[in-house]
Amino acid sequence: MTPLGRLLARRIALDGPIPLSDYMAECLLNPSHGYYATRDPFGAAGDFTTAPEISQMFGELVGLCLAQCWLDQGRPEPFALAEVGPGRGTLMADMLRAMRSVPGMLAAAKVHLVEASPALRARQARALTGLAPEWHDRVEGLPDLPLFLVANEFFDALPIRQFERRGTGWAERMVTLRADRLAPGLGPVTPYPALSHRVAETCEGDVVETCPAAAAIAGEIGRRVARRGGAALVVDYGGWRSLGDTFQALKGHAPADPFAEPGEADLTAHVDFQALALAFAAEGAAVTAMTPQGVFLERLGIAARAEVLARGLAGEPLRTHLAAHRRLTHPDEMGQLFKVIAAYPQGEAPPPGLDPAG
Ligand code: SAH
Repeated sequence: MTPLGRLLARRIALDGPIPLSDYMAECLLNPSHGYYATRDPFGAAGDFTTAPEISQMFGELVGLCLAQCWLDQGRPEPFALAEVGPGRGTLMADMLRAMRSVPGMLAAAKVHLVEASPALRARQARALTGLAPEWHDRVEGLPDLPLFLVANEFFDALPIRQFERRGTGWAERMVTLRADRLAPGLGPVTPYPALSHRVAETCEGDVVETCPAAAAIAGEIGRRVARRGGAALVVDYGGWRSLGDTFQALKGHAPADPFAEPGEADLTAHVDFQALALAFAAEGAAVTAMTPQGVFLERLGIAARAEVLARGLAGEPLRTHLAAHRRLTHPDEMGQLFKVIAAYPQGEAPPPGLDPAG
C-alpha cells in the first residue's frame, strides 16, 4: 500500500468508512502525499494531457473569446484575469499572448490564479515569469473586480459523492477496508433530501453523483460575474445532469483501479453541467447553453488559425499540428466529450461561440 493508503486505512479502522469525496480530496490534495500536491502530472511522461498542452490554439482562442467579452462590456478597468486550476500555466500564457493584440487589455488586467498545489504553483510561476500573477487558495480570495475567468479541466478534479438508489432512498458509496485493503462499500439507506428531485427519474440501483464543491465554487464565480461584470468560461468533460458512475483513475495515460494506489493516480469524475448552470443562475448570472468543445472552437475560428500556423510547418511538426487540431475538435476525440458553458452578466452579450441558454 502507498503511504497515503496506510494513513487512510488507519483512519477507516478507527473511525469507520469515509465518503468517496473525503477519499478523493485526500488522494488529490493531501499536503504530503496528494497527487496534485506533490507532482506535475501533465504531458507525455505524466498521466494525462489537456487541451492547452495539446496546442497553443486552445489558449489563444479562449483568450480572444474573453477579450471580446471585455470589449463588449466597455473595457472595464481594472479587472481580474483569473484561472482556477491552472496546471502548468500554459493556458494563461497562451491567453495573454493572444490578448496582447487587444489595445489596452493587458494594461487593465491583473492575473489571478486559484491553485491548491504548491508544486504546480512553482510551475505556473515559471510559465508566467514577468507577469506577476497573484495566487489564491480559493475563489473567495479573488479581488472584488470585474472577473474574466477560465476553468479548463478543473471541475472534474473536485471531490464527488456517489449515491445508489434503494427504494425511494439512497445509499452512499463509501470507502471501507476489506481484508486490510481499501475497497468500495455502501452506507445505510437514507432519504437524502438533496436528491429528492432525482427519485422520479431514476430506477432501483441507479447511481447519481453530486459535487458539493463544484456548486459552491460556481456559485461564488456566478455571484461575482453577475455583480461586477465579466465572464466565466468552463471547459470540461461531462454532460447535462449526472447519471451513472463516472469516477475514474488515470495513471500513465491508462485507466487504473482508483483504490489500488491512493495518491499515485489522477482521480476524476464527469462534470454535471446542469449543476454548474443552476449554481451560476442562482447567484443572478446569465448562463449560456452547454456547447461541445469542437463546435465552440470551430465557431471561434480554429480552422483559420490552424491554417496560418500550418504555413510555417513541414514534416513531423506539421503532422503533430494537424493531429492536435483534430484532437481538440473531432467528435471522436475531445470535440464532443468536452463541453463548454459560460456565466455572464444579465443584459450583456454571451461570450462568442456560445448561445444564450434556450
Ligand atoms: N487547467 C489546466 C490543469 C487541469 S488539472 C490544464 O488544462 O492543463 C487540475 C488543476 O486544478 C491542477 O492545477 C490542480 O492542482 C488544480 N486543483 C485541483 N483541485 C483544486 C482545488 N480544490 N482548488 C484549487 N486548485 C485545484
